[in-house]
Amino acid sequence: MRKPILIAGGGPVGLTLGLLLEHVYKVPVDIIDRQLAPTHHPQAHFMNLRTMEILKTHLPSLHEQILDMAAPPSQWRDYVYCSCVMGQELARVDQFGPGIKAPPASHGFRNELCESLHDLSPTQPVHFPQHKFEHLLGSFVAEAGLNFERGIELTCLDANGPQVRVNLRNVQSGQEEVREYDHVIGCDGAHSKVRQRTNIEMQGPPKLQSLVNVHFTSQKLSNHAKNSPAMLYFVFNPKIIGVLIAHDLAKGEWVFQIPCFPADPKNPLSEYSKATCEKLIRAAANSDESSSVDVDIHSIGYWEMQAQVATSYDAFNKRVFLAGDAAHRFPPAGGFGMNTGIQDAHNLAWRLARHIHGAPSQLNDYSKERQPIAEATTKLSMKNFERTLRVPTALHVSYTSAQHLMNVTQTTAFQLLPNPFRQTIMSTAMAAGSAHLRAVDDPTSTLGQHLHRRVREIVLRRKAIGMLFYPWDIGYAYDKPFPESSDEALDQSHLFSTKENPHGFTSIVQVGGRLPHHWITVNGKVVSTLDLPQLVLKDCPSYSLLVTDPSWLEKKYTMEIPTVLLVNEEISSNNAIIATFNNKKNSLGDSPISALLLRPDGHVAFVWKNIDEVTPKAVNAILEA
Ligand SMILES: Cc1cc2nc3c(=O)[nH]c(=O)nc-3n(C[C@H](O)[C@H](O)[C@H](O)COP(=O)(O)OP(=O)(O)OC[C@H]3O[C@@H](n4cnc5c(N)ncnc54)[C@H](O)[C@@H]3O)c2cc1C
Repeated sequence: MRKPILIAGGGPVGLTLGLLLEHVYKVPVDIIDRQLAPTHHPQAHFMNLRTMEILKTHLPSLHEQILDMAAPPSQWRDYVYCSCVMGQELARVDQFGPGIKAPPASHGFRNELCESLHDLSPTQPVHFPQHKFEHLLGSFVAEAGLNFERGIELTCLDANGPQVRVNLRNVQSGQEEVREYDHVIGCDGAHSKVRQRTNIEMQGPPKLQSLVNVHFTSQKLSNHAKNSPAMLYFVFNPKIIGVLIAHDLAKGEWVFQIPCFPADPKNPLSEYSKATCEKLIRAAANSDESSSVDVDIHSIGYWEMQAQVATSYDAFNKRVFLAGDAAHRFPPAGGFGMNTGIQDAHNLAWRLARHIHGAPSQLNDYSKERQPIAEATTKLSMKNFERTLRVPTALHVSYTSAQHLMNVTQTTAFQLLPNPFRQTIMSTAMAAGSAHLRAVDDPTSTLGQHLHRRVREIVLRRKAIGMLFYPWDIGYAYDKPFPESSDEALDQSHLFSTKENPHGFTSIVQVGGRLPHHWITVNGKVVSTLDLPQLVLKDCPSYSLLVTDPSWLEKKYTMEIPTVLLVNEEISSNNAIIATFNNKKNSLGDSPISALLLRPDGHVAFVWKNIDEVTPKAVNAILEA
């Protein structure tokens, strides 16, 4: 059978899109990836609240497995600034903040964060490495029977005829074949061939920084960290400045991010051999070189930090689309890259599915809605990146001085020097610039005390990079300004409204925004309001009408879309699904709302205050607009 859709790229975004289209919305797809096997090299590790909500609603067993496999939240709620992991801590900050309780020692690890977020969301963010997520997605894709072909590369795309023609090359045999599809979705990452072939440009500055990342295991380091764990260790000492990410303390897995100034652009990994990386990791682990920290390196990667967004997310009259890194590249500060990509897939899947099922689809709005989100997220990530630089600046090892040094190294005179000389000059200059960091480990040093004070002032006042960004993760609305990335807002990005702190973030009902979460009971089962689009789903994703005024039932309207009556007391109806609020005081929002139209992705399409205006004609008029 010829499939209508090709997904080029089986990374986290392509595989999630494939599952949503075929497994959830019954639209057959082909997925290809040029790699023969999934990567083992970690990149993303933070899955935010909205991503987890999407998975919980549409792919609940995948969501459960992630929660089962992810590290316990008590192991990753802190960020630490230190001279080395086993040495002096300069400052430690609890990124969850006061709204999230620390669990009692006897607590089973899985639900502590879910419980605290109970009124905000039916799930929680997780610290879960991308390569493990991709493996899990791969097994769900296989189990659901999707056609996922590895070792197949898209080399050419032509959409000038009635169909989109693609040339696919088998990377092992070199054999080429031509196939035709109604739609091709480029989920093929930062260097997207689909994007190149559709002449869509990326806008934004060239690369911001080059980094080497090293995946390794160390039992000794993990055993030490287990006593006072953290997700990130920002390390500053005369031998190394970098960030250690504790991926899995039980298995001893870590990733070390090392900023390089500069890496040889032609051969970036040449300066970071296994032996060099081991030495640098030991220097980040322990200042005492005689202590033999075990280091087993699995892989060394190189990546360039960028801040660019595609000028459009579609081409060729909505027959070709981009999603994920193919459409945007953010600095990873805040962890938005993969999350935004999965949320692109969520926005695109229901539109494409409705189009293929023959329902009005608003394919036009995919680019219109998601592209501004990426532009705003770029600004947010840049602001976060700026905030990560505050501690190094306070320690007088600023990014700007390193950049100046990098500019010198790019002069012709420097480039003419033989490579060993260049390396010696670079490392001597870098070491000279950070020699004063020795004072951090000396309790009698006035400079050391001064540096400690400066760092604590920034970190404890939450002026450095944060981890949780509720207003941006779940508070944005399409067609409305994105929450402002001001310092004042970012200092408080981890706060959500609780009895103790009523001034934190609260979800509100707004057109274009995600429907706020409430616990409700439907047919005797406790679910979230976020689950409603999946509860009413019959293959073709459908809008639904949510009515909160029971008097509306007396009108006995026949609606063309599923109707849910959301009330405090159980009543009976043949025309509507009855859902009761679990907290009897609940309503959908502070202002009176009689009904709303819900999109298949759980975003609000329209709000009625006056129940008399909620008629089949009014609903159809909005759906046809
Ligand atoms: C160090 C680091 C840390 C990060 N941390 C986070 C984080 O905590 N949270 C977060 O959300 N994001 C994070 N990110 C970003 C995240 O890794 C990316 O946004 C994510 O990988 C994008 O997924 P994707 O599926 O769009 O693209 P990719 O993961 O790049 O996948 C693209 C796939 O397409 C395939 N492909 C490419 N070209 C072709 C072709 N021509 N034909 C067929 N197949 C092709 C590739 O083989 C690949 O499998 C981080 C990134 C880095 C570098």
